[in-house]
Amino acid sequence: MRYISTRGGIAPISFKDAVMMGLATDGGLLLPESIPTIDPATLDSWKALPYRELAYRVMSLFADDMPAEDLKQLIDRSYDTFAHPEITPVVHKDGAWILELFHGPTLAFKDVALQFLGNLFEYLLKERGQKMNIVGATSGDTGSAAIHGVRGKDGINIFILHPHGRTSPIQALQMTTVTDPNVHNIAVEGTFDDCQNMVKALFNDLAFKEKYSLGAVNSINWARVLAQVVYYFYSFFRVAEETGATEAVFSVPTGNFGDIFAGYVARRMGLPIKRLILATNENNILTRFINEGDYSTGTVVSTVSPSMDIQLASNFERYVYYLFNEDASRLREAFAGLAKTGRIDFTEAEMARVREEFASDSIDQFGTLKTIADFHHETGYLLDPHTAVGVGAALETVKDGTPVICLATAHPAKFPDAVRQATGVEPPQPPSLHGIDKLPTRCLVMEASLEKVKEFIEEKAR
Ligand SMILES: *Cc1c(COP(=O)(O)O)cnc(C)c1O
Repeated sequence: MRYISTRGGIAPISFKDAVMMGLATDGGLLLPESIPTIDPATLDSWKALPYRELAYRVMSLFADDMPAEDLKQLIDRSYDTFAHPEITPVVHKDGAWILELFHGPTLAFKDVALQFLGNLFEYLLKERGQKMNIVGATSGDTGSAAIHGVRGKDGINIFILHPHGRTSPIQALQMTTVTDPNVHNIAVEGTFDDCQNMVKALFNDLAFKEKYSLGAVNSINWARVLAQVVYYFYSFFRVAEETGATEAVFSVPTGNFGDIFAGYVARRMGLPIKRLILATNENNILTRFINEGDYSTGTVVSTVSPSMDIQLASNFERYVYYLFNEDASRLREAFAGLAKTGRIDFTEAEMARVREEFASDSIDQFGTLKTIADFHHETGYLLDPHTAVGVGAALETVKDGTPVICLATAHPAKFPDAVRQATGVEPPQPPSLHGIDKLPTRCLVMEASLEKVKEFIEEKAR
C-alpha cells in the first residue's frame, strides 16, 4: 500500500513513511493510493472477532510494510490501557446504540488513536535510530490524550502548550499530573490562539524544526484515522448480531472531521453504512455545507461541547479529494480559492452525492442540554455534551427504523458542569479520576513568548 497527497505533489510513499511525514510535504493530506474493499465473505469472517483481532485485520491492509507480529504487539499494548474488556463496547438505550469510545486513559475517543500512535512512533523511531520532540497546542482533549499516548516512551519528548486557567480543571489535571521525565506541560498566560500561533511559528522555523526533529500529533496523521476505522466495523457487528440489521446509520459529533472521515473510509471499504450523520454544535460550517452547499468560514464560538469548536476542519480536505474523484489539481485550486475567498463552491452533482453519503444537523447549546436531560430522564444514562450533539442530531435525522449507532466521544465525568446543569446529577467518576486532584503535578507557567518557549524546548530536548 502506497500513500499519496491530496494535492498530488509527492511521489508515493510507504505506510511507515506516511506516519512519520504527518502532513504531506506539499501541504496536502496523505491518503492510501486506493482503499481496499472487503468482500462479503471476508466481512462475515470478521464479525465475531475480538476488538484487537479485528483491529489487526483492518489495519494490516493499510500497514502492509509492518511485520504481522510487530503490528499485533503494538495493537495489544495500545489497548491494554483501556478499562473495558471490549475496548469500545456498544450499549442499547431507548432505541439508540451508544458506542462508548471513552474507556481509555483520558476518557475521550482520542485515546483510541493516540494510544496506538504513541506506540507506533516509538517503534518507528527506534527502527530508524531517531528521536522526536512532539510539540502541540491544546484547548484540552487532544493534549491530554497525546501526553498519555507518549508518556514514558523512548526517543520521544512531548511539549504541550495550553492556555493557563482556560481548560476545564479535569483536563488540566489529566495533563499536569503526568510527571514522566519526557512530558513537558507549558501553561501559557494567554489564549488557545496564542498557544496555537506559537506552535505554528515553531514549525515554520524550518531550521529549528529540523534541528530538534519537531513532530506533531494533530488529527491529520493517517495512523490516527486508521485506528478509528476499526470501531465502525466492531460496533456494526455488535448491532447486527443483536438486531439482524444489514445496514446502519452512524451519528458522529464532529470537529476536525477526523472521526467521521474514518467512518467514510469504512463505508468505502464495504461496511454497509447507509449514511453518516455529521453532527455539529453552533460551529456548523459543515452542516451548512451538507444541507445548503455553502462551505464558507465564519468565526469560532465557544460552546458546551468545546472539543468541536472548530471552523476549518483539517480532515475535510481528504473527503473533498474523493468528492472531486481524486482530481488533485481541482483540489489544489479549490483550497487555494478557500484561502483567498473563505469559500469553496461545489456542483449540483457533487452535492447530490454528498447527500447520499451524509446527513447533517446542528444542535445548539439549548438542544444539547435538553438532549442530555431527556435522555437521562428516559433511560437513566448520562451523555456528555459532545455525545449529546450526536444523539440530538440522530433523533432529528433518522426516522425510518434503521439502527443508529451514536459515537460517545467523551465520558460524562469529563464535562461535569454541562451534565449537572442539564440533569442536576453529578456524573459518577471513573477510577482514573479518583484522587486526581491530590496527585503531584508538574507544569511550567510561562508568558506568551515564542522566545521563552524556544529556550525551554532547547533546554529539555534530548
Ligand atoms: C476531538 C473530539 C471530537 C471531534 O472529533 P473530530 O475527529 O475532530 O471530528 C468530538 N468529541 C470529543 C469529546 C472530542 O475530544
